[in-house]
Formats: sequence, structure tokens, C-alpha cells
Amino acid sequence: MTHKYIIEHMETDLHEWCILEYSHIATFVFPPNLIITRLKDAEITELKKLQALDGTQLRRETVDETGIDKSKICLLHPNAEQQLEPEDGQTFDYFLFGGILGDDPPRDRTSELCPSAHATRHLGQLQMTTDTAINVTKKVIEDKVRLFDIPFIDFPEIVFDKNESVVMPFRYIAIPHTTKSTLQTTNNEIKQNMVPLLPTGMLELLKKDANEPLDL
Ligand code: SAH
Repeated sequence: MTHKYIIEHMETDLHEWCILEYSHIATFVFPPNLIITRLKDAEITELKKLQALDGTQLRRETVDETGIDKSKICLLHPNAEQQLEPEDGQTFDYFLFGGILGDDPPRDRTSELCPSAHATRHLGQLQMTTDTAINVTKKVIEDKVRLFDIPFIDFPEIVFDKNESVVMPFRYIAIPHTTKSTLQTTNNEIKQNMVPLLPTGMLELLKKDANEPLDL
């Protein structure tokens, strides 16, 4: 069976950040194999307008309510005891992720979507964004790449100009720096010329957010 990727949307709003991440996921997961659950009607309407998500399954139910056989679902959880291995692709048909914007420090909201019956696997201890976690899972179970063979960048610093930068408190997949980019990182161990793989539009959104007055 083809593997399917489920995102249980856990945020109360459909933040622009979520939209960029979900659209990014649909560039590397064939949209009919991507299921987003726990959406409000208005959110389904909004996501349906996006061409990037054309063909994605947008559902109102929670993953529990979909009736999918739980023994076939693996929840990706940073606190799981076992690491995800390529062989898990034979055991599980569905891989479940929290549609959660990361918190720093992490708040472990993933546990809220984890009824005890689910099997869990981790992708290392560091928190990834949802799109990164799905991309990494796909590389492990479909491309059979082991976790430690995937190049990562941890806590990249995105530099907008000499006065402004933001540190992203997540682990990202590292990709070669091909075009002239504003991305820099603070982590000296990182190989030169690698940048974090971010959703299209994320840099612009971060810059916009950085320029907005604080909502006090
Ligand atoms: N701080 C958050 C983490 C959200 S990250 C929390 O409250 O749980 C969004 C989702 O990506 C998580 O729900 C999980 O499914 C997946 N994920 C992120 N990092 C992971 C890791 N290191 N191992 C396994 N899954 C991870």
C-alpha cells in the first residue's frame, strides 16, 4: 500500500505559517496521500482555494474519528522510545504528525493527539517543523535513508540585514546554498554553503512578522 501522511491540525487558527508549511508538504507528498484532519469548515474552504493543495484530503474529523485502523498508524513524536527506521515502512501505512507551530521551549502538544493505542517513533530529540518532520519521514521510509545520513541544520539564524535577524528554534533539512541568499546560520559545525530547507514564502513571512509592531 502507498504510505499516507496525516496531519492533525492542532492550532486554533489557520495561521499563514501553517498554510505555507502545508503547501510545502504537498510539493513532496503526492496530494491524494496527504490527509489534513480536525479542520473547521471555514478552514477547509480556505485551503480548497489553494492550488498547491489540490487533491489533498481535507477532513473535519479528528484522526480518531476517521476510523482508520490504529495498528496501521505511526505517530511521529519527539519523545518516542524508538527511532524511525526504513523497516517501519513495512509495518505502518499511515504516519501521523501534529499540525503544531513549534514552541520554544517545546510544550509537548503532540501528546494531546496521541491516544495510547498508537505506536510512536522519533526523528531525534530536536524539534522539527511539521513539513520538515514529514519530509524526513518520507526519506526514511520511502527512500530508505537512515536518519543519521540526512544532513540537518539546527537552529539556523535568518539574517535580514545587519540589524535584524531571527533564530529558528528547530532542526531543518540542509540543502546546498545555490542562489545568493540572505540565510546565515549561527552553528559553526554546519558545513559551509548549506541552508535550511524552508517553505516557499517563509522568508518573506518572517521578514514581515519581524517588521510588525509587537502585539502587546
Ligand atoms: N513543540 C511541539 C512539536 C511540534 S512539531 C509539541 O508541542 O509537540 C510538529 C510535529 O512534527 C509534531 O507534532 C511531530 O508529529 C513532528 N515532529 C517534530 N519534531 C519531531 C521529532 N524530533 N521526532 C518526531 N516527530 C517530530
